[in-house]
Amino acid sequence: MKNIYKNSLVNLNKAKKFLKKNNIIAVPTETVYGLAGNAYSNTSIKKIYKLKKRPKKNPLIIHYHNLQALKKDANIDEKFLTLYKKFSPGPLTYVLQKKKESKISSLANANLKSIAVRFPKNVVIRNLLKQLNFPLAIPSANISSNVSPIKAIDVVDEFGKKISFILDGGRSKIGLESTVISLYGKTKILRPGAISHKKIGKVLKTNISILKKTKKLRSPGLLKRHYSPGIPIKLNCKKADSKTAFVVFGKKYKKAKNIFNLSLKGSLEEAAKNLYKTLRKIKNLKYKKINVVKIPNQNIGIAINDRLKRASY
Ligand code: AMP
Ligand code: MG
Repeated sequence: MKNIYKNSLVNLNKAKKFLKKNNIIAVPTETVYGLAGNAYSNTSIKKIYKLKKRPKKNPLIIHYHNLQALKKDANIDEKFLTLYKKFSPGPLTYVLQKKKESKISSLANANLKSIAVRFPKNVVIRNLLKQLNFPLAIPSANISSNVSPIKAIDVVDEFGKKISFILDGGRSKIGLESTVISLYGKTKILRPGAISHKKIGKVLKTNISILKKTKKLRSPGLLKRHYSPGIPIKLNCKKADSKTAFVVFGKKYKKAKNIFNLSLKGSLEEAAKNLYKTLRKIKNLKYKKINVVKIPNQNIGIAINDRLKRASY
Protein backbone atom coordinates (compact mmCIF):
# COMPACT_ATOMS: atom_id res chain seq x y z
CA MET A 1 0.00 0.00 0.00
CA LYS A 2 1.33 3.39 -1.01
CA ASN A 3 0.13 5.22 2.08
CA ILE A 4 1.62 2.77 4.63
CA TYR A 5 5.08 3.78 5.83
CA LYS A 6 7.36 1.48 7.80
CA ASN A 7 8.97 2.61 11.03
CA SER A 8 12.25 4.33 10.09
CA LEU A 9 14.07 7.55 10.91
CA VAL A 10 13.12 9.06 7.58
CA ASN A 11 9.46 8.21 8.02
CA LEU A 12 9.36 9.47 11.62
CA ASN A 13 10.62 12.78 10.29
CA LYS A 14 7.92 12.76 7.63
CA ALA A 15 5.31 12.07 10.30
CA LYS A 16 6.63 15.01 12.32
CA LYS A 17 6.32 17.31 9.32
CA PHE A 18 2.69 16.31 8.74
CA LEU A 19 1.82 16.93 12.38
CA LYS A 20 3.63 20.28 12.57
CA LYS A 21 1.59 21.48 9.60
CA ASN A 22 -1.55 20.49 11.52
CA ASN A 23 -2.26 17.56 9.24
CA ILE A 24 -3.64 14.21 10.41
CA ILE A 25 -1.78 10.90 10.17
CA ALA A 26 -2.50 7.37 11.37
CA VAL A 27 -0.27 5.94 14.09
CA PRO A 28 0.16 2.62 15.88
CA THR A 29 -0.46 2.20 19.60
CA GLU A 30 -0.53 -0.96 21.73
CA THR A 31 -4.33 -0.70 22.09
CA VAL A 32 -5.56 0.10 18.55
CA TYR A 33 -4.39 2.29 15.64
CA GLY A 34 -5.25 5.96 15.96
CA LEU A 35 -5.67 9.17 13.97
CA ALA A 36 -3.17 11.65 15.36
CA GLY A 37 -3.24 15.44 15.31
CA ASN A 38 -1.66 18.36 17.18
CA ALA A 39 -3.77 18.68 20.35
CA TYR A 40 -2.96 22.41 20.61
CA SER A 41 -4.38 23.18 17.18
CA ASN A 42 -8.07 23.81 16.50
CA THR A 43 -7.41 23.12 12.82
CA SER A 44 -6.04 19.65 13.53
CA ILE A 45 -8.85 18.75 15.92
CA LYS A 46 -11.53 19.86 13.45
CA LYS A 47 -9.92 17.65 10.81
CA ILE A 48 -10.01 14.63 13.13
CA TYR A 49 -13.73 15.02 13.90
CA LYS A 50 -14.53 15.50 10.24
CA LEU A 51 -12.55 12.47 9.07
CA LYS A 52 -14.08 10.19 11.70
CA LYS A 53 -17.58 11.69 11.38
CA ARG A 54 -17.43 11.80 15.14
CA PRO A 55 -20.02 13.73 17.15
CA LYS A 56 -18.39 16.92 18.46
CA LYS A 57 -19.54 16.14 21.99
CA ASN A 58 -17.27 13.09 22.17
CA PRO A 59 -13.94 14.22 23.61
CA LEU A 60 -10.60 12.86 22.42
CA ILE A 61 -7.80 11.27 24.42
CA ILE A 62 -4.65 13.40 24.57
CA HIS A 63 -1.41 11.41 24.32
CA TYR A 64 1.84 12.39 26.03
CA HIS A 65 5.38 11.11 26.16
CA ASN A 66 5.75 11.63 29.91
CA LEU A 67 4.61 13.43 33.05
CA GLN A 68 6.67 16.53 32.41
CA ALA A 69 4.74 17.22 29.23
CA LEU A 70 1.39 16.65 30.97
CA LYS A 71 1.93 19.07 33.84
CA LYS A 72 1.17 22.13 31.69
CA ASP A 73 -2.28 20.81 30.85
CA ALA A 74 -3.76 18.97 33.84
CA ASN A 75 -3.87 19.04 37.62
CA ILE A 76 -2.50 15.86 39.13
CA ASP A 77 -2.66 14.35 42.62
CA GLU A 78 -1.25 11.43 44.65
CA LYS A 79 -3.83 8.96 43.36
CA PHE A 80 -2.90 9.76 39.78
CA LEU A 81 0.81 9.45 40.55
CA THR A 82 0.32 6.04 42.18
CA LEU A 83 -1.48 4.73 39.11
CA TYR A 84 0.93 6.44 36.72
CA LYS A 85 3.94 4.76 38.36
CA LYS A 86 2.28 1.37 38.14
CA PHE A 87 0.54 1.43 34.75
CA SER A 88 2.07 4.09 32.50
CA PRO A 89 3.23 4.00 29.81
CA GLY A 90 0.44 1.59 28.92
CA PRO A 91 -3.25 1.08 28.11
CA LEU A 92 -4.71 3.27 30.86
CA THR A 93 -6.40 6.63 30.20
CA TYR A 94 -6.91 9.10 33.05
CA VAL A 95 -9.63 11.74 33.13
CA LEU A 96 -8.18 14.73 35.01
CA GLN A 97 -9.03 18.36 35.67
CA LYS A 98 -7.85 20.53 32.80
CA LYS A 99 -5.68 23.49 33.79
CA LYS A 100 -7.07 26.92 32.94
CA GLU A 101 -3.84 27.89 31.21
CA SER A 102 -3.68 24.69 29.15
CA LYS A 103 -3.18 25.17 25.41
CA ILE A 104 -5.16 22.01 24.55
CA SER A 105 -7.82 22.96 22.01
CA SER A 106 -11.16 23.06 23.84
CA LEU A 107 -12.67 21.32 20.81
CA ALA A 108 -10.57 18.26 21.71
CA ASN A 109 -12.22 17.89 25.13
CA ALA A 110 -15.71 18.99 24.03
CA ASN A 111 -15.42 22.17 26.13
CA LEU A 112 -15.40 20.13 29.35
CA LYS A 113 -13.48 21.05 32.48
CA SER A 114 -11.69 17.71 32.28
CA ILE A 115 -9.31 16.10 29.80
CA ALA A 116 -8.54 12.44 29.17
CA VAL A 117 -4.82 11.67 28.93
CA ARG A 118 -2.73 8.62 28.13
CA PHE A 119 0.91 7.63 27.84
CA PRO A 120 1.06 4.96 25.14
CA LYS A 121 3.65 2.20 25.31
CA ASN A 122 4.15 1.29 21.66
CA VAL A 123 7.74 2.33 20.82
CA VAL A 124 6.91 3.91 17.47
CA ILE A 125 4.37 6.36 18.87
CA ARG A 126 6.57 6.97 21.92
CA ASN A 127 9.49 7.95 19.70
CA LEU A 128 7.27 10.31 17.80
CA LEU A 129 5.80 11.93 20.92
CA LYS A 130 9.27 12.40 22.35
CA GLN A 131 10.30 14.51 19.39
CA LEU A 132 7.28 16.79 19.34
CA ASN A 133 6.75 19.91 21.42
CA PHE A 134 3.00 19.36 21.57
CA PRO A 135 0.83 16.41 22.67
CA LEU A 136 -1.27 14.44 20.22
CA ALA A 137 -5.02 13.96 20.20
CA ILE A 138 -5.47 10.35 19.08
CA PRO A 139 -8.88 8.71 18.76
CA SER A 140 -9.12 5.29 17.15
CA ALA A 141 -8.55 5.32 13.37
CA ASN A 142 -12.02 4.25 12.31
CA ILE A 143 -15.19 5.98 11.16
CA SER A 144 -17.25 6.69 14.29
CA SER A 145 -19.17 3.60 15.53
CA ASN A 146 -17.17 1.14 13.38
CA VAL A 147 -14.76 -1.58 14.50
CA SER A 148 -11.36 -0.19 15.57
CA PRO A 149 -8.24 -0.91 13.46
CA ILE A 150 -5.45 -3.06 14.86
CA LYS A 151 -3.17 -3.09 11.80
CA ALA A 152 -2.01 -0.43 9.33
CA ILE A 153 -4.01 -2.07 6.55
CA ASP A 154 -7.23 -1.79 8.63
CA VAL A 155 -6.85 1.99 8.48
CA VAL A 156 -6.92 1.71 4.68
CA ASP A 157 -10.04 -0.46 5.04
CA GLU A 158 -11.67 2.40 6.99
CA PHE A 159 -10.44 5.51 5.19
CA GLY A 160 -9.07 4.44 1.79
CA LYS A 161 -6.92 7.26 0.40
CA LYS A 162 -8.30 9.89 2.76
CA ILE A 163 -5.39 9.27 5.10
CA SER A 164 -2.22 9.76 3.09
CA PHE A 165 0.27 8.77 5.79
CA ILE A 166 -0.07 5.66 7.96
CA LEU A 167 2.88 4.86 10.19
CA ASP A 168 3.25 1.10 10.52
CA GLY A 169 4.07 -0.21 13.99
CA GLY A 170 3.00 -3.82 13.50
CA ARG A 171 -0.08 -5.36 14.98
CA SER A 172 -1.50 -3.72 18.11
CA LYS A 173 -0.42 -5.91 21.05
CA ILE A 174 -3.62 -5.55 23.06
CA GLY A 175 -6.21 -5.01 20.34
CA LEU A 176 -8.85 -3.29 22.50
CA GLU A 177 -9.15 0.39 23.47
CA SER A 178 -7.61 1.59 26.72
CA THR A 179 -9.25 1.39 30.12
CA VAL A 180 -10.60 4.86 30.95
CA ILE A 181 -10.59 5.84 34.62
CA SER A 182 -12.04 9.09 35.86
CA LEU A 183 -10.06 10.74 38.66
CA TYR A 184 -12.15 13.88 38.28
CA GLY A 185 -14.90 13.65 40.86
CA LYS A 186 -15.56 10.15 42.16
CA THR A 187 -12.97 7.61 41.00
CA LYS A 188 -14.57 5.14 38.59
CA ILE A 189 -13.98 3.19 35.43
CA LEU A 190 -15.71 4.82 32.45
CA ARG A 191 -14.61 2.19 29.94
CA PRO A 192 -13.22 -1.27 30.78
CA GLY A 193 -9.99 -2.36 29.09
CA ALA A 194 -6.91 -4.53 29.53
CA ILE A 195 -6.18 -3.03 32.94
CA SER A 196 -9.12 -4.28 34.97
CA HIS A 197 -10.93 -2.50 37.81
CA LYS A 198 -9.58 -5.26 40.09
CA LYS A 199 -5.93 -4.53 39.21
CA ILE A 200 -6.53 -0.81 39.76
CA GLY A 201 -8.40 -1.47 43.00
CA LYS A 202 -5.46 -3.51 44.30
CA VAL A 203 -3.02 -0.70 43.67
CA LEU A 204 -5.28 1.97 45.19
CA LYS A 205 -6.29 -0.40 48.03
CA THR A 206 -10.01 0.26 47.50
CA ASN A 207 -12.90 -1.06 45.42
CA ILE A 208 -13.26 0.62 42.05
CA SER A 209 -16.66 0.64 40.38
CA ILE A 210 -17.43 0.50 36.67
CA LEU A 211 -19.84 3.16 35.46
CA LYS A 212 -23.03 1.49 34.26
CA LYS A 213 -25.39 4.06 32.83
CA THR A 214 -24.50 7.25 31.03
CA LYS A 215 -26.96 9.95 31.91
CA LYS A 216 -24.89 12.73 30.45
CA LEU A 217 -22.33 11.95 27.83
CA ARG A 218 -19.64 11.10 30.34
CA SER A 219 -17.80 8.85 28.01
CA PRO A 220 -18.31 8.42 24.28
CA GLY A 221 -16.98 4.85 24.26
CA LEU A 222 -20.06 4.21 26.36
CA LEU A 223 -22.44 5.31 23.63
CA LYS A 224 -24.88 2.50 23.11
CA ARG A 225 -23.77 1.55 19.62
CA HIS A 226 -20.07 1.47 18.91
CA TYR A 227 -17.34 -0.91 17.75
CA SER A 228 -19.80 -2.32 15.23
CA PRO A 229 -19.06 -4.25 12.02
CA GLY A 230 -22.43 -3.08 10.68
CA ILE A 231 -23.98 -6.57 10.86
CA PRO A 232 -26.52 -7.81 13.45
CA ILE A 233 -24.74 -9.58 16.31
CA LYS A 234 -26.40 -11.99 18.74
CA LEU A 235 -24.67 -12.68 22.04
CA ASN A 236 -24.57 -15.71 24.38
CA CYS A 237 -25.36 -18.19 21.57
CA LYS A 238 -24.80 -21.94 21.73
CA LYS A 239 -24.89 -22.52 17.95
CA ALA A 240 -25.29 -20.90 14.54
CA ASP A 241 -26.58 -22.04 11.16
CA SER A 242 -24.04 -22.42 8.36
CA LYS A 243 -24.87 -19.02 6.85
CA THR A 244 -24.20 -17.19 10.10
CA ALA A 245 -20.68 -16.36 11.25
CA PHE A 246 -20.17 -18.11 14.57
CA VAL A 247 -17.64 -16.50 16.89
CA VAL A 248 -16.45 -18.98 19.54
CA PHE A 249 -13.96 -19.24 22.39
CA GLY A 250 -12.14 -22.37 23.64
CA LYS A 251 -11.36 -25.83 22.30
CA LYS A 252 -14.75 -27.53 22.28
CA TYR A 253 -15.76 -26.12 18.87
CA LYS A 254 -15.17 -27.94 15.58
CA LYS A 255 -13.48 -26.32 12.62
CA ALA A 256 -15.82 -25.05 9.90
CA LYS A 257 -15.85 -22.27 7.34
CA ASN A 258 -18.25 -20.16 9.37
CA ILE A 259 -16.59 -20.76 12.75
CA PHE A 260 -14.16 -18.12 14.00
CA ASN A 261 -12.32 -19.02 17.18
CA LEU A 262 -11.11 -16.06 19.26
CA SER A 263 -8.81 -18.32 21.26
CA LEU A 264 -8.53 -22.06 20.88
CA LYS A 265 -6.61 -22.34 24.14
CA GLY A 266 -9.23 -20.26 25.97
CA SER A 267 -7.02 -17.23 26.70
CA LEU A 268 -8.97 -14.01 27.22
CA GLU A 269 -5.92 -11.91 26.29
CA GLU A 270 -5.67 -13.74 22.99
CA ALA A 271 -9.42 -13.35 22.43
CA ALA A 272 -9.15 -9.58 23.03
CA LYS A 273 -6.33 -9.41 20.52
CA ASN A 274 -8.36 -11.32 17.93
CA LEU A 275 -11.75 -9.67 18.46
CA TYR A 276 -11.58 -6.73 16.03
CA LYS A 277 -9.56 -8.72 13.50
CA THR A 278 -12.31 -11.33 13.50
CA LEU A 279 -15.20 -8.85 13.27
CA ARG A 280 -13.52 -7.01 10.39
CA LYS A 281 -12.85 -10.31 8.60
CA ILE A 282 -16.47 -11.39 9.00
CA LYS A 283 -17.65 -8.03 7.67
CA ASN A 284 -15.38 -8.32 4.62
CA LEU A 285 -16.55 -11.91 3.98
CA LYS A 286 -20.04 -10.36 3.68
CA TYR A 287 -21.79 -12.45 6.30
CA LYS A 288 -25.24 -11.05 7.12
CA LYS A 289 -25.41 -12.26 10.74
CA ILE A 290 -23.03 -13.01 13.60
CA ASN A 291 -23.64 -15.25 16.61
CA VAL A 292 -21.21 -15.13 19.51
CA VAL A 293 -20.81 -17.64 22.35
CA LYS A 294 -20.75 -16.55 25.98
CA ILE A 295 -17.35 -15.08 26.89
CA PRO A 296 -16.19 -15.34 30.55
CA ASN A 297 -16.86 -12.00 32.22
CA GLN A 298 -13.61 -11.60 34.12
CA ASN A 299 -10.34 -9.64 33.68
CA ILE A 300 -10.09 -8.45 30.07
CA GLY A 301 -13.23 -10.52 29.36
CA ILE A 302 -15.19 -7.63 30.92
CA ALA A 303 -13.81 -5.33 28.22
CA ILE A 304 -14.52 -7.89 25.47
CA ASN A 305 -18.13 -8.20 26.64
CA ASP A 306 -18.47 -4.42 26.88
CA ARG A 307 -17.40 -4.04 23.22
CA LEU A 308 -19.54 -6.98 22.03
CA LYS A 309 -22.58 -5.61 23.79
CA ARG A 310 -22.20 -2.23 22.13
CA ALA A 311 -21.36 -3.79 18.79
CA SER A 312 -24.59 -5.80 19.03
CA TYR A 313 -26.80 -2.85 19.84
P1 AMP B 1 -11.63 6.74 21.51
O1 AMP B 1 -10.92 7.98 21.12
O2 AMP B 1 -12.45 6.18 20.40
O3 AMP B 1 -10.75 5.74 22.16
O4 AMP B 1 -12.68 7.17 22.62
C1 AMP B 1 -12.39 8.21 23.51
C2 AMP B 1 -12.62 7.84 24.94
O5 AMP B 1 -12.08 8.86 25.74
C3 AMP B 1 -14.04 7.74 25.35
O6 AMP B 1 -14.51 6.46 25.45
C4 AMP B 1 -14.10 8.43 26.70
O7 AMP B 1 -14.23 7.46 27.70
C5 AMP B 1 -12.83 9.10 26.88
N1 AMP B 1 -12.84 10.54 27.21
C6 AMP B 1 -12.13 11.48 26.58
N2 AMP B 1 -12.22 12.68 27.20
C7 AMP B 1 -13.01 12.51 28.26
C8 AMP B 1 -13.46 13.39 29.29
N3 AMP B 1 -13.07 14.67 29.37
N4 AMP B 1 -14.29 12.87 30.21
C9 AMP B 1 -14.65 11.58 30.17
N5 AMP B 1 -14.24 10.69 29.22
C10 AMP B 1 -13.43 11.15 28.27
MG1 MG C 1 -12.99 4.80 19.08
